[in-house]
Amino acid sequence: MDRLFLIHYGEIGLKGENREFFERKLQAGLQRALASWPGASVERRHGRLYVMNTPDPEQALSRLQRVFGVVAVSPAVRAPLDLEQIRAAARQLVSEAAAAAATGATAHATAEATARPLTFKVKARRTNKGFQPDSMGLQRLLGADLLASVPGLKVDVHEPALTLQVEIRESAYLYCRSLPGPGGLPLGSSGKALLLLSGGIDSPVAGWMAMRRGLEVECVHFYTPPFTGPRSVEKVEDLCRQLAAWCGRIRLHLARFTEVQQAIWEKVPEDLRVLVMRRFMMRVAGLLARQQEAPALVTGENLGQVASQTVESLTVIEAASPLIVLRPLLAWDKAEIVRKAQEIGTYEISIRPYEDCCTLFVPRHPRTRPTLSELEDAEASLPVDTLVQGCLEKVESSVLKPPVWI
Ligand code: ATP
Ligand code: MG
Repeated sequence: MDRLFLIHYGEIGLKGENREFFERKLQAGLQRALASWPGASVERRHGRLYVMNTPDPEQALSRLQRVFGVVAVSPAVRAPLDLEQIRAAARQLVSEAAAAAATGATAHATAEATARPLTFKVKARRTNKGFQPDSMGLQRLLGADLLASVPGLKVDVHEPALTLQVEIRESAYLYCRSLPGPGGLPLGSSGKALLLLSGGIDSPVAGWMAMRRGLEVECVHFYTPPFTGPRSVEKVEDLCRQLAAWCGRIRLHLARFTEVQQAIWEKVPEDLRVLVMRRFMMRVAGLLARQQEAPALVTGENLGQVASQTVESLTVIEAASPLIVLRPLLAWDKAEIVRKAQEIGTYEISIRPYEDCCTLFVPRHPRTRPTLSELEDAEASLPVDTLVQGCLEKVESSVLKPPVWI
């Protein structure tokens, strides 16, 4: 009887001929999450993925629950296709689950609740039709066996507290628990994108959403020394470390924006400064993305959140980008973004105080309906290409790893 983890994945199973490609990407993602355990292995068998030989099951579970493309993870046991061994595995697994439920109940509830029997059912599935008995027969047999051998159980086929799942394949797989993963598509299966990462709440969430749809993400952050201090860079590095907890590692490009900002400050009317600055970010990020072979940009922009995020403002900003601009949070409400940030662990970092290069530029009367010709006129007196090249040449890159594991 082996202990292992069974990986459930949903959407990638629907990809027809690409299925193998997606499965390999998912396998690579699982392997990356276990990289610090050389003995751990990921097996691909008959359209299923199994993780074995992990030294610390709880820690393994939490790592696997962070792998994009994983819908759910089940700690399982594998038994040979032999009825006696399957019965023994079922008894073992259900006794453990009953003991865990009893511990949970005494911690939270009254003595009366603890004394109540644990409701359960057995759900069997047989893809290997060569095995006897069939699913119904196996359910009945194991159910009766468990009732007789594990104390405190009671059958409830409608709303059981515990369901023992039994899958008959080339071996028998048994499990009682399925814990959710992030879902989505395996990292890298949609290619690569460059995330414009500020120190705010939105852009790290946008990056996570892009990763969840299969995009490998690199980050660029624009900073303005000496107007923004080292703490704002540290904060962005910490955000990258936290994002790396979901993808293994992340590349951060720091782009010094001081010269660009100074030129804008001197030459551009106050009400257009933020928009011109955003357009410069798009130009630099677009070229940097091409260097990194990333065909898309990602931002945390959100419709109507601030003056620079009206449809008209987004239009003039996007016009400066040589690449498609993806905005995963476009239609989210702030409360939803905050909730997601808390869930993925970036919120606490994002709310640290810091100076942002944008805050220096916030006008008293921001423009909400700019036109492209106004922007082009405002930029006419700037040496656009020289400024962009100057910024690009000074980019410094590093690779950041998760704070806790790998
Ligand atoms: P965030 O929480 O991401 O900062 P925000 O609502 O504060 O979002 P803005 O500050 O207007 O929005 O920025 C819009 C988007 O532009 C950000 O989500 C981010 O993608 C990008 N951006 C803004 N400032 C920077 C920066 N200093 N470096 C890199 N990208 C930035
Ligand atoms: Mg911001």
